[in-house]
Amino acid sequence: NAVIGIVGGGQLGRMSAMAAARLGYRTHILTQDASGPAAQVSDAITLGAYDDPEALEAFARAVDVVTFEFENISADALDHLSRHCPVRPSGHILRISQDRLAEKTFLSQAGIPLAPWHAVQERADLHAAAERLGLPLILKTTRNGYDGKGQIRVHDAAELENAFDSLAPHPLVAEGMVDFACELSVMVARGTDGTVRCFDTVQNHHWQGILDLTLAPAPVMDAIAQDARTLATRIAQALDLVGIMGVEMFLSRTGTLMVNEIAPRPHNSGHWTMDACPQDQFDLHIRAVAGLPLPPAVRHSDAVMKNLVGPEDMALWPDIVATPGHIPHLYGKAQALPGRKMGHVNLLFPFGGLPGEFGIRAALGPLATRCAAPDLAEQES
Ligand code: ATP
Ligand code: MG
Ligand code: MG
Repeated sequence: NAVIGIVGGGQLGRMSAMAAARLGYRTHILTQDASGPAAQVSDAITLGAYDDPEALEAFARAVDVVTFEFENISADALDHLSRHCPVRPSGHILRISQDRLAEKTFLSQAGIPLAPWHAVQERADLHAAAERLGLPLILKTTRNGYDGKGQIRVHDAAELENAFDSLAPHPLVAEGMVDFACELSVMVARGTDGTVRCFDTVQNHHWQGILDLTLAPAPVMDAIAQDARTLATRIAQALDLVGIMGVEMFLSRTGTLMVNEIAPRPHNSGHWTMDACPQDQFDLHIRAVAGLPLPPAVRHSDAVMKNLVGPEDMALWPDIVATPGHIPHLYGKAQALPGRKMGHVNLLFPFGGLPGEFGIRAALGPLATRCAAPDLAEQES
């Protein structure tokens, strides 16, 4: 049986490896953490840095195909690996997605609607950005940001230069602050034969920059949910994607969709598929990477996904496992540090039966007090 190589050792690698095992594949992880979430469930690991030529060489010899679960790796390293075996998605796609400027440039050229943006290569670009986008705006590093890290909201012109100085490395990108009605995302998979499968459009609530809740399906009009899937499909095709990708979007108060960012890997906002779909995002990802045909991305239930973040959520663990209907997934991380994603809980509802605010609150049980969705509790910005 073939060996699927996964670069990165976190929870996305863990759940990918578990899906691969179910399909009869062995997995081999390239990681710097021999006891991390992915290493615990994989068949073999290469311990080393993602850009260490010796580690890459050993890894390449051990696997038949390579994918990645972590975007802050070297695209050059992926190109190097692609001389030994297929790399899916390709280093070319990683190069676009790991750099916000490259990403926005690519998506704009593909005719994809985005939040207004302006490249800030140097300090002198700040004023043109503020003039073009207005205030408030958001300054973001182009690389390495996640969970809202590497970005600052700028409310008036006097704060611009300080924000510029406190973000590194440069260049930066400025974005107009979108007064969105809600945030949506779509998981899209594309196979080696070009077949595209989109899971249903979902709604995401963030808390302190970290995904908190996903509602599947998104409680928006069918036409909007379908438009979101069409955008995700167009992006997957424009990238020549093989594998799965998360596409994050804003829905404006006037009903316009804007893409926020793309992630060519399994995505936190797709974890609901693990219990609400016969084949989940990891299954479709592994099938695409392995060159198998893709089954339809169908859903048999409505679902809510609640992330378990940091020691506060983990303090509720005994209550969670004792609550009927809570389907817990833990990532096997040793320490519940503040802001660290430790696991998630899925709640299932009959197809078409996703409840409203009060029903979700009731179903969340002990987790309702730790739920930060604006309609469900007070939101912090
Ligand atoms: P992730 O963990 O999803 O990779 P990230 O650190 O890459 O997050 P973004 O997705 O760019 O960051 O932003 C995090 C959150 O901040 C968004 O989900 C949204 O809630 C808010 N946000 C980002 N950009 C904008 C914007 N232009 N207008 C309004 N809100 C924004
Ligand atoms: Mg991101
Ligand atoms: Mg994001």
